[in-house]
Amino acid sequence: MTARTIALVTGANKGIGKEIARGLGQRDLTVLAAARDQRRGEQAVAELAGEGLDVRFIQLDVTDDTSISAAAKQIAEEFGRLDILVNNAGILTGGPVPSETDLAVMRKVYDANVFGVVAVTNAMLPLLKLSSAGRIVNVSSGLGSISSHADPNSPLPLYLSYNSSKSALNAITVQYARELLATGIKVNACAPGKCATDLNGHSGERTPAQGAQIAIRLATVDADGPTAGFFDDNGVLPW
Ligand code: NAP
Repeated sequence: MTARTIALVTGANKGIGKEIARGLGQRDLTVLAAARDQRRGEQAVAELAGEGLDVRFIQLDVTDDTSISAAAKQIAEEFGRLDILVNNAGILTGGPVPSETDLAVMRKVYDANVFGVVAVTNAMLPLLKLSSAGRIVNVSSGLGSISSHADPNSPLPLYLSYNSSKSALNAITVQYARELLATGIKVNACAPGKCATDLNGHSGERTPAQGAQIAIRLATVDADGPTAGFFDDNGVLPW
């Protein structure tokens, strides 16, 4: 079994996920850059590997059970364990307002942002439990903060499907953290801040590389690091 730290990042072919993969690669980790589309994934991996990083492509659609179990099997066979899982893949649909929510769209958002995370996490947990320092990072959003939305003067947009999917992801983060307390596996959620990516038509003011920093930090915390937390670059965020 390799002595190198093995990290899996979902949705790593572009945006924040690619920058998380790059940042972990720059910390001398072996990074499995997962993408649902082979061509897009291999393109990103070629870019990162061209920078001298140990980044490898793995096919993984977080909404496809067959793809998830094939990825888990491949990691088990090639590495025998997994040290870091970054659940980054996600989709955004905007408004209009909660009362006009299209349930079919909402289900699609939850499939990727919520059920996908649970499916991937459960498939990878047997491998993470074989790590001496397992870490799970769920890439959430400030838009998932229920207490921020509860402020009547909140400037946050009312994207019911997306926002509540990230609130659910925050809740899921805490539940896993509690279950896994005795294993030493730390489970945290992070908010990258508003970054310019395809997700928001490049309207964010931060770069994807800036957005990746908090996920990279949480993925590499030592034994004294937090678990069951929600963080951005400036520290703890309100649930
Ligand atoms: P992005 O550039 O659109 O990237 C999203 C990634 O997720 C892509 O690689 C996409 O793959 C992948 N993905 C979507 N559905 C998938 C599925 N079913 N299976 C596997 N991969 C899938 O967006 P981003 O801004 O980097 O977003 C990354 C994460 O950060 C998301 O969880 C998002 O909610 C979160 N976030 C972003 C912002 C922001 O301002 N950008 C702020 C807060 C939180 P394809 O290329 O194949 O579509």
